[in-house]
Amino acid sequence: MTKQPHILLIYTGGTIGMVKDADSGALKAFDFNSLLVKIPELRLLDCTIDTISFEEPIDSSNMNPKYWGDIATIIGDNYSKFDGFVVLHGSDTMSYSASALSFMLENLAKPVIFTGSQLPIGDLRTDAKENLITSIQMASLQIEGVPVIREVGLYFEYKLYRGNRTTKLNAEHFEAFESLNYPHLAESGVHLKVNYKQLWEPTPNSELILRTAMDTNIGVLKLFPGISRPLCEAILTSKLIKGLIIETYGAGNATSEPWFISLLKAAIANGLHVINVTQCAGGSVNMGQYETSSQLKLIGVISGKDITTEAAVAKLMYLLGENVAKNKFKTIFETSLRGEMS
Ligand code: ASP
Repeated sequence: MTKQPHILLIYTGGTIGMVKDADSGALKAFDFNSLLVKIPELRLLDCTIDTISFEEPIDSSNMNPKYWGDIATIIGDNYSKFDGFVVLHGSDTMSYSASALSFMLENLAKPVIFTGSQLPIGDLRTDAKENLITSIQMASLQIEGVPVIREVGLYFEYKLYRGNRTTKLNAEHFEAFESLNYPHLAESGVHLKVNYKQLWEPTPNSELILRTAMDTNIGVLKLFPGISRPLCEAILTSKLIKGLIIETYGAGNATSEPWFISLLKAAIANGLHVINVTQCAGGSVNMGQYETSSQLKLIGVISGKDITTEAAVAKLMYLLGENVAKNKFKTIFETSLRGEMS
């Protein structure tokens, strides 16, 4: 008889485990053990499950790099004992966390599946049960004892996505996430259908390395028509940041007004890493396609290509945390490290 996969369920918080406060009616996190009582079906799954919970579960709006480090450390400490990991997490910042963990877990060769829900587990119409049960099944998938998913995934509403390719697109629909620049890794219908060709292939025989030093001295600037010079000046001359993600229009276009370009040029000359990410939900930055992005290319702006802002934030914190040399930073950022860009 083959050994049943052994799965570690890590509960960080989020709607999935929340209850309504009797007085205020607001949703707040509750004790994890009660969550398991609410899903007796878990015992019917073809795997064994252990659980571990944040001491104080959080709404994911309070997520930060220290908590990311805690999740990475839990996975690192338990890596050899388990075949797969399911992280229960609020949906609001789940794409940021899945992206961050993809960088923190170098040489990951086991499944780490993030999931959560739009309605609490106790709600009659909850989406939590399907999300949780199928995530555990995805994490348990093996071929001849080798896990099928060997990367950080995000499972929500019948689809498994590459975590660092996702964005939360809807605050109400059960189908809250999408990965517009990368195909789904798997779909759950009558059968679990895995898109084998799209799965990440880890480097063989490499040990898991935890990379938890995230540098948070970064910024995100979303362009809009009429953005003022003083605002751009304040950000681009700030000594408080080492990296700045600019959310540009369309295929990476920005105003070509001379003051904007010279501010950017001076900032880059002063050592600021500036990354161009499109504010469109899908598609790629292509500097040089239009005149309004040619200057950006010439002055050394880094292309985020088709990366999401969420993954760009995580990658920027990660590369700064790893103290990547200034002269290599652009090339490394423009290289796909965990399948986060094409
Ligand atoms: N505010 C909640 C959170 O992100 C929403 C959710 O769980 O989906 O923690």
